[in-house]
Amino acid sequence: MVTISKALNEAVEKLKGKVFTPILDSEVLLSKILNKDRLYLIVNKEEQLTEEEYRKYKEIIDKRFQGMPVQYLTNNQEFMGLDFYVEEGVLIPRPDTEILVEKVINHIDNTKEYNILDIGTGSGAITVSLAKYFVNSTVYSIDVSKKAISIGRKNADRHGVLSRIKFLKGSLFEPLEEIDIKGKIDILVSNPPYIPSEEIEKLQIEVSKYEPRLALDGGKDGLYFYRKIIDKAPKYLRYNGFIALEVGHNQAGKVVEFMRKNGCYKDIEITEDLAGIERVVS
Ligand code: SAM
Ligand code: GLN
Repeated sequence: MVTISKALNEAVEKLKGKVFTPILDSEVLLSKILNKDRLYLIVNKEEQLTEEEYRKYKEIIDKRFQGMPVQYLTNNQEFMGLDFYVEEGVLIPRPDTEILVEKVINHIDNTKEYNILDIGTGSGAITVSLAKYFVNSTVYSIDVSKKAISIGRKNADRHGVLSRIKFLKGSLFEPLEEIDIKGKIDILVSNPPYIPSEEIEKLQIEVSKYEPRLALDGGKDGLYFYRKIIDKAPKYLRYNGFIALEVGHNQAGKVVEFMRKNGCYKDIEITEDLAGIERVVS
């Protein structure tokens, strides 16, 4: 039999040098197994784990040791103050993406009725946050991944906005063909896959081995989806509609160039993230 304190020490020893935050990860994962908060662990250090709890804890720590992200082990990531269910097969929402959501929220008043389109649902992070804020909106949320659609739906339900979201499975604008929506989208957002194909293997193992390639791979130069979206968006956007796209490191200039060449876009802006990296083109 081991105490909380001993189990934590063992886990920290194992994860040290392997992950960035061994103490935090060990605590968060033990909290998950015991279904208690982290403060409980600190206050009840000498409490004994049952054999079953200890076995499960060693298993989960081993997965973390292999590189599985904490969020896939706890099935949770907070985004815009909301808890999102995540599991292997959908991208873990990133704090950088909050810049995209904030850009939209700060730009547009939330009382009117809008049609919002989000391309690349993932966990539903952007879709659900916008549906919560724009209380009279309808959100069309498209993903090619069946898993993304089902997890997006689960998160929408969890946050009480399912009835205003239309989840559509398919590629890019294709699922909209059957809906009378051309020229009627007020706000179009997307955080598309944008990592150049050959760069994916070079990312940290948590991302390259565990997150879905489908959510990361932006083609040879990483810009495949921007070309497609910028080309097609004017058909779907209302006159004077708003578009905001998350971009990767050093991609904003190119994306602005695509918009300028297209000719339908005006008042193009780049917004930086908290690290000073150009993150959103709108
Ligand atoms: N919006 C989520 C977020 O910000 O956390 C997920 C973004 S993730 C970078 C990109 C998403 O686009 C993935 O869920 C992926 O399955 C989806 N995707 C990839 N190719 C697509 C396509 N051709 N059409 C629609 N969605 C696609
Ligand atoms: N921001 C993610 C990463 O750096 C990539 C997500 C994307 O391709 N849109 O891993």
